Amino acid sequence: RIAYVNGQYVPYAQAGVHVEDRGFQFADGVYEVVAVKDGGFVDLEGHLVRLERSLDELRIDRPMSRAALSVVLAETVRRNRVRNGSVYLQITRGAARREFPFPDGVAPTFVAIARHLDWAKGAANAARGVAAITHPDIRWGRCDIKTVGLLPAALAKQAAKESGAYEAWLVDDQGFVTEGSSSNAWIVTKDNVLVTRKPTHEILSGITRSAVLELAKREGLKVEFRPFTVAEAQAAKEAFVSSATSFVIPVVTLDGKPIGNGGPGVVVARLRSLYEAHAATHSTD
Ligand code: PMP
Repeated sequence: RIAYVNGQYVPYAQAGVHVEDRGFQFADGVYEVVAVKDGGFVDLEGHLVRLERSLDELRIDRPMSRAALSVVLAETVRRNRVRNGSVYLQITRGAARREFPFPDGVAPTFVAIARHLDWAKGAANAARGVAAITHPDIRWGRCDIKTVGLLPAALAKQAAKESGAYEAWLVDDQGFVTEGSSSNAWIVTKDNVLVTRKPTHEILSGITRSAVLELAKREGLKVEFRPFTVAEAQAAKEAFVSSATSFVIPVVTLDGKPIGNGGPGVVVARLRSLYEAHAATHSTD
């Protein structure tokens, strides 16, 4: 395996960054995960646009142009012979003597890692449906920025794992679901209306979420952009999560309570198949 680290492709075992990297000390960095399907990136442009927004919001310098970045990602994928999987990229403010304010004249750290992923497992999860649990949303006030500060997400995902669930749906102080620990959360009402939150500072505006919204619109499905409670989700007809590596996965139980008939529903199945087709056509991006 080969990783990309600051301009070089190095063997995985030797790939490292400095001990005083600000990503390590302050979570002062951002990341993206892009799916690789049949040798092509899925929604690459959207991920790169969001990456630049995250960097701009934190005033971290862009290490290179969007085009150059795409080349690095493609080369990382190619050198690892990944045809189906994902590429992870992380950019931090760089390495400097540990002081809270931004250092002067320090170049950002840029790393990229590719890995294999078995899409058949995702398809099996989609066919069966998955369980989700609820977990308090203890994250900070700028969840719209895709930072590497993922400890609250890791705690939530660990709780899900210990309950045998696939995902944890994070719940705010007022009892509304914000999003999944690493996915966006949706429900489908009895009238086949999709409900998902507005992309405010409380959630990450998912690239998969945007693509699904576009597909749903073309399909003539109605969408309401509003928060929903745990009780409303449990009483919904269908529910699902969306993310770059999950695509669209039906959630069939929430905290052990069945949603709808407790199995995958037709609306989510349709959205998944539309997204799969979209991912296939965009695999040459
Ligand atoms: N919300 C959170 C908190 C996430 O970590 C992710 C996945 N990175 C998503 C939503 C889904 O975003 P995307 O569709 O761009 O993968």
